[in-house]
Amino acid sequence: MAEGSPTLRLLPSVDRVVVGLRRRGLLEEFPRRAATLAAQQAVAEARRALKEGQNGVEPEAIVDRAAGLLRRQFGDGLRRVINASGIILHTNLGRAPLSKAAQAAVDAVSSGYSSLEIDLASGERSSRAVHVEPLLTAVTGAEAGFAVNNAASAVVLALAALAAGREVLVGRGELVEIGGGFRLPDVMHSSGARLVEVGTTNRTYLSDYASALGPDAAMLLKVHRSNFSQSGFVHDATLSELVGLGQSRGVPVVHDLGSGCLVDTTRVGLPAEPTVQASVAAGADLVISSGDKLLGGPQAGVLVGRQAAVDRCRRHPLARAARLDKLDLAALAATLRVYLEPDRAWQEIPILALLSRTPQARRRLALRLARAVKRAVGGMASVDVVATSGEAGGGTLPGTLVPSWAVEIRPVSARPEEWATRLRTGSTSVVGVVREGAVLLDVLALLPGEDRRLPALVQAAAASG
Ligand SMILES: *Cc1c(COP(=O)(O)O)cnc(C)c1O
Repeated sequence: MAEGSPTLRLLPSVDRVVVGLRRRGLLEEFPRRAATLAAQQAVAEARRALKEGQNGVEPEAIVDRAAGLLRRQFGDGLRRVINASGIILHTNLGRAPLSKAAQAAVDAVSSGYSSLEIDLASGERSSRAVHVEPLLTAVTGAEAGFAVNNAASAVVLALAALAAGREVLVGRGELVEIGGGFRLPDVMHSSGARLVEVGTTNRTYLSDYASALGPDAAMLLKVHRSNFSQSGFVHDATLSELVGLGQSRGVPVVHDLGSGCLVDTTRVGLPAEPTVQASVAAGADLVISSGDKLLGGPQAGVLVGRQAAVDRCRRHPLARAARLDKLDLAALAATLRVYLEPDRAWQEIPILALLSRTPQARRRLALRLARAVKRAVGGMASVDVVATSGEAGGGTLPGTLVPSWAVEIRPVSARPEEWATRLRTGSTSVVGVVREGAVLLDVLALLPGEDRRLPALVQAAAASG
């Protein structure tokens, strides 16, 4: 269709769409420049649709689209969300919520200047590392510790610092993809280390490592299978065996644990997640873990272990590129301080508190929530309580289902997907799950007080249809 065709000329002007946005009160909420950009995009899309042969685009639909673009692109972006998904550490929902102590530390450091790299006693320049190293060593028992931006960058840093241009031995069954396309073989390649695969997918013995270990070997790397499990005819060399081999041949051993669990998960009836302390005690030169998985802190990558190996990472030029920012540093230090008293950690670290709730407590919470939701939606939906299998998530406790309960909401005259969308896009976002014709709001990951906000949010979603 030609540019001058009658249909194209019927498209509203950008100015008219902006007037439509103003009529909806959006110019009070957003700057005019943002409204104009959204209107331009919406009109351009409509023009393309017409050229591709779609007939007729309602001017009001174009204003709708512009309003959607305006909110999505220039609204508050990263929003607070209530996690009713039944997955505690959900990477898409920002993993671990911070403890009160960590929130306060972030607040204090972000609202003013800080002692990030100054020694306040002497007035001399200092290093940001001093804020977490003593805590890391105290909590894990390691000789030395260092924190970077995330565990992925800690892995890259360790490889670059200890093994660039040389060989790294990894069990074939541990060449994992962590998620978001982070594949260990690619990471190794990018760090300049040469990957030597050892053993087979399901069975790898110490003797496989020993026979592959040549003069060019710079590291024995063990990677925790944090997001999958193997069962059946399987065997792995243990970390202690690798440490024995590494020490006898002068080759450092690195354990990428993924989730930095610092507590005994069997205490709350969960399977044992390997701890950082155990890997340190087994003698690994470096143990790498995430700050925002089971550790329950901010995004960070934690490297602990022997002084020599940690120092090589700290001094490598990439350490500067991977450094932790002051807000995460403050939050990590405050989180680690709680672990100096493990009993406090179970109460004060939000994800540990969630994991230590009993199934009965989860059921009571779901029953109470269901009653309130039922009152809120009246005849618009039937409301029930169902047992669910939740997850710790975030690449922790793979395959372990955490028994939980959900409120099951079955709309009478709408599709559950519509309600789920409205819940996600309402005044406070709620992320639930749609299953078998119902919206499920799982109580597993609900933080204290969030359950009391849910009935009104469900009511708003029901009423806006
Ligand atoms: C999650 C994970 C990582 C990456 O951690 P991030 O902090 O997300 O970068 C690395 N290794 C393993 C084994 C993991 O499970």
